[in-house]
Amino acid sequence: MKKKTKRLLIILIPVAIVLIAAALYGLGLLGVLSPSAEKSDAQVIRMIGAQAIWQNRLEDRIPQTAISDVMMRHMEQEGEPPRKLLFIVYDGALATAAGLRAEKNPEAPIGSLAAKGGAWLGFAGGAKPGDQSTSTSAGFAGMFTGVWADRNGVAENSDTLSPETRTVMYRLHAQGKQARFFFSWEPHMTVNNRLEAEEFPALYEYCGSDAGTFTAMLEGIEDGMDAVIGSLEYTDSAGHTTGFNLRSRYMNAIANAENDAMALIAAAEERAETYGEDWLIVLGSDHGGTGYGHGGTSLAESTTWFVANQKIF
Ligand SMILES: [Zn+2]
Repeated sequence: MKKKTKRLLIILIPVAIVLIAAALYGLGLLGVLSPSAEKSDAQVIRMIGAQAIWQNRLEDRIPQTAISDVMMRHMEQEGEPPRKLLFIVYDGALATAAGLRAEKNPEAPIGSLAAKGGAWLGFAGGAKPGDQSTSTSAGFAGMFTGVWADRNGVAENSDTLSPETRTVMYRLHAQGKQARFFFSWEPHMTVNNRLEAEEFPALYEYCGSDAGTFTAMLEGIEDGMDAVIGSLEYTDSAGHTTGFNLRSRYMNAIANAENDAMALIAAAEERAETYGEDWLIVLGSDHGGTGYGHGGTSLAESTTWFVANQKIF
């Protein structure tokens, strides 16, 4: 090979590699390289089917709205011991990733709670697929009110909860319990639960970041609050920036949420021991995701999950 040609190749090959990588990255962002819906559904079916922790199957996923009654039933039990609630949502945490996490780190919160009470597959998106978006607002509204958007009014992130449907925070407050929702995604308060938050500001605490949410929830538990409910954004943020998948960036985000949950659960368990309180501890997700987003009807987007320290379903 001529010296000149060789020198040219030394320059051109790296340039070509960079250009190809950039093109693939661009196509990935545009969703061109995302798997087709059928392929993605088949992948979820295969993966979930191979995960041992789930008590139910994809065919009989539990509507996410059902968690509302579970929380109320626990809190409404009469007499001693005092009933307490810790509900932590890992925003946009894939069910497949939760199952994988439990397999790889069985001592972490998802795995350890699943071993104590159980783990269940749920679904977002309304009674019929496509009735409402598999979005944060619709997911939380369903879990908080116990009914879908046709009754609570929140089908999209831009919707506001109807004043006729009330959240678990409000219903517990009406029973004289101290309940609060901690979060760092502002629309929870300024859009979705706006009317309730204006009327009862003590039910909502905007915490600025996951670190803020964690600290405020910990204080809530330690101060003797009855119901501490929170949303951690690690997984949703990772999904929207590096993809909803089982690769290390996304799995590291789950690990971050688990670290926070571990400390919050330890604080609740310490109170249970010291004060003889009966804590229902639930972890879950509001929706899943595919590619770099969510909102649609695929199994990856609509399959949610719950794990709890008691048999809740
Ligand atoms: Zn979300």
